[in-house]
Amino acid sequence: MINFHPDNALLAAYAADTLPLSMTLAVAIHVEFCPACAQRVADFERRLAESVLIAEPADAPAEPAFDDMLSYILAQPAEPLALPAAEPAIEINGQSFWLPRALRHIGRQNWQQMGDIGRSRLLLDEASSGRASLMFLSAGASVPQHTHKGMELTLPISGAFRDELGEYIPGDFILRDSRIAHQPRSKEGCLCFALLDAPVQFTQGLPRILNNFGDLLY
Ligand SMILES: [Zn+2]
Repeated sequence: MINFHPDNALLAAYAADTLPLSMTLAVAIHVEFCPACAQRVADFERRLAESVLIAEPADAPAEPAFDDMLSYILAQPAEPLALPAAEPAIEINGQSFWLPRALRHIGRQNWQQMGDIGRSRLLLDEASSGRASLMFLSAGASVPQHTHKGMELTLPISGAFRDELGEYIPGDFILRDSRIAHQPRSKEGCLCFALLDAPVQFTQGLPRILNNFGDLLY
């Protein structure tokens, strides 16, 4: 069962379409996994639609163009139109993984591998909102213990991982700030969506070796 969810402020901002693209993707992936948050998003969208209707004074003659626009909006299906799946699965190290709908049309860099950790950066062309990547931890992989100068969002897509604070499964929306030092590891292997808004800082080990890891993670 999914234990970690975006808070209401994030879900409301997602419904209002005011989040940066990288965070929009993160919430969209979670919502694909989580019927409870999908319902909350639908509630926020309904309230937004109602506030548009209430904002229009009842006695003012409505502009025909506005009426047309409104009936067009209300006639749209509640669910986003399903685009043909260009790439429903991705291949990593000979294994095939299901890819969330939100990620299927996003370009990615080639996989970069360091030891048993791989990364493919998403091409979002959006420098201000952090760096989004797919991360792949092979079975038995562990990331050196680190903390963050900023925010770290991790969302498992396939497989589980754990750190000092718990165990996480596909769909978990794990948002951490700079106060947390942790060492993620995966017993069976794990494909994750990862979003960082600043480089990681390693808390132990040899800086020279770890700098390469830092480049891979950010
Ligand atoms: Zn949720």
